[in-house]
Amino acid sequence: MSRRTYSVEPANCELSEVVILGSGTSNGVPMLGVKYPPAFLANPKNHRSRASIMVMGPTGNLLVDCTPEMRLQVTGLGITEIEAVVITHTHADHIMGMDDLRSLCMRTKAPVTVYTLKHHEADIRRVFAYAFHEYPPGIVVPRFDLKAIPDVLQVGGLDVHSFVVDHGPSKVIGLRVNNLAYVTDVSHIPAEAGAKLHDLDILILDAVRYEPHPNHFHMARAIEVARAIGAKKTYFTHLSDDYDHDLVNKTLPETMELAYDGLRLAI
Ligand SMILES: [Zn+2]
Repeated sequence: MSRRTYSVEPANCELSEVVILGSGTSNGVPMLGVKYPPAFLANPKNHRSRASIMVMGPTGNLLVDCTPEMRLQVTGLGITEIEAVVITHTHADHIMGMDDLRSLCMRTKAPVTVYTLKHHEADIRRVFAYAFHEYPPGIVVPRFDLKAIPDVLQVGGLDVHSFVVDHGPSKVIGLRVNNLAYVTDVSHIPAEAGAKLHDLDILILDAVRYEPHPNHFHMARAIEVARAIGAKKTYFTHLSDDYDHDLVNKTLPETMELAYDGLRLAI
């Protein structure tokens, strides 16, 4: 039985990087209540926390989504400073770690800047209602400064371009920074978003499972879309337990691979 470790290599401060904090679907992998073959569990790359990335720029870090494992993902990376957070959408696997942002508020005595789509703000205010109430001194709750994400977000010394994709009936923020784009939780890429996905070195794209899914790209569709976008390299993310990492990678087109937790990509 392998033990999941969140440690990854120390950051190279010379480079801007995107780190895959989590590559898993909403259940995570292994899933609670499922018995897996020992050989599957023996590969650390088959242990997938919920989907999230850290964009590490020359002057600061941008956290994209706050999964239930966010504290472990970020502390494992050795990062103590987060300049801002983007919430791509408000499904539970992307926001349930937001309470842990409280530790940052305690230290900085300031709210955490959270960028999302305007219409996702109501969900955050509902789920974390206590974070918007007033309390007597000594009671500490997380504080969020909710802002509508601009087309170009300047954070960490980088220009992070945002766009919107469809995730079934929901809208999800996709991001492009330099030569890399991150498109999690997607069932359709509208033309306006597609226009931002030209000339990519790296695309990180949803490929939730083998069977078609109403709200996600399944593997066959993800491969089709990745081919059409034509990034030099595509990493699939938001992965279920359909995929045994090393075995599946051998079956994928040459320019495509499964992502895994802790994968570091220079941008
Ligand atoms: Zn989702």
